[in-house]
Amino acid sequence: ARKLLVGGNWKSHGSLKFVKNFANDTLNKIVYDTSKVEIVIAPVSIHLKDAQEHIANNIHISAQNSSAFEDGAYTGEISASQLANFGIGWTILGHSERRHILGESNTFVASKVKIADEYGLNTIACIGETLDQREAGDTIKVCTDQLDAIRAQVDDWSRIVIAYEPVWAIGTGKTATSEQAQEVHEQIRAWLNENISEEAANNTRILYGGSVNAGNADELIQNPDIDGFLVGGASLKPEFESIVKACN
Ligand code: 13P
Repeated sequence: ARKLLVGGNWKSHGSLKFVKNFANDTLNKIVYDTSKVEIVIAPVSIHLKDAQEHIANNIHISAQNSSAFEDGAYTGEISASQLANFGIGWTILGHSERRHILGESNTFVASKVKIADEYGLNTIACIGETLDQREAGDTIKVCTDQLDAIRAQVDDWSRIVIAYEPVWAIGTGKTATSEQAQEVHEQIRAWLNENISEEAANNTRILYGGSVNAGNADELIQNPDIDGFLVGGASLKPEFESIVKACN
C-alpha cells in the first residue's frame, strides 16, 4: 500500500514567530503512525532554517519552489543544489499560483522537476485545470499535458509525488466533490500506467489539493486513488492535525 502524505503549503504566509509557535503548539504534538503517513511542511524559503530547527524531525521540510537552473547568474533563484546542500529534501513545483500568477509554462516547470530530481530532491509536482478548462471538458487533457511535459524531461518518477489541485478549488472554499476528485485521480493513475510504468502507477502518491479542511478530509481520503492532501489555508491552523488524523 502507498504511504499517505499530507503536505502543508504555507504559501507566502507566516513570520518567524508563527513558525516557532505553530511547530510547538500544533505540528510537534500531532500523534500519527509514521509507517502509514508522512507530513511535509513548506514554509517560505527564508523560514526554512527556523522550520528545520523548531519542527520535529519526523516531519519533512520542503521548499515551495526551486530553480530550473544550476547555481549561477539567476537573480532571486534558489537552486536544487543549494536546497539539497541545506538539508532540504523536498520541493513543491508547478503550483498553480506559479503557473498562473508568475507565468511558469509546462516546459519550465518540467525543467525544474528534472533538476530537482538530479539533486535527489523529492518533488510534489502540482497539476490541475482552471474552471474554464473544466467547463470546456478539458480537465484530463490539461492535466496530462502538464504530466507529458514532465515525462519529456524526467525518466525516474520514484521521487515524484503528484498533487492534483483544481485551480477553481484553491482558496475558494469550493472543494472538488469526492467523486470529481477520484475521477481525475484514477485517470492520472491510468496515465502513469500507460506512459511511465505499472510500477509508477502502483507506487506514485497522488494528492488532492483545494480547500481541504477538517470537515472534508475524511470523505476524500476514502477514495482508492487519493493518497493524501496538499493543504493550503488549513495547514496554518490547528485543524491541520485533524487532516493528518483523517489519513492515519
Ligand atoms: P487551499 O487549501 O487554501 O485551498 O490551498 C490549496 C493549495 O493551493 C495547496 O497547495
